[in-house]
Amino acid sequence: MSAAEIVEVEEAKVSCDGGPGALGHPRVYLTLKGGAVDCPYCGRHYVLKEGAKLAAH
Ligand SMILES: [Zn+2]
Repeated sequence: MSAAEIVEVEEAKVSCDGGPGALGHPRVYLTLKGGAVDCPYCGRHYVLKEGAKLAAH
């Protein structure tokens, strides 16, 4: 695959399993810091959607 995918999320906590295919990996939970986090397994770049709340629910 090519460059890392950028995924917009609405919460500061995301789970990533890399999706189906070659990038798949065990599900991990990531916490966005400063509005962004990279998945250490598949390299996806998670960013907080504009206007989303950082507060936990
Ligand atoms: Zn991942």
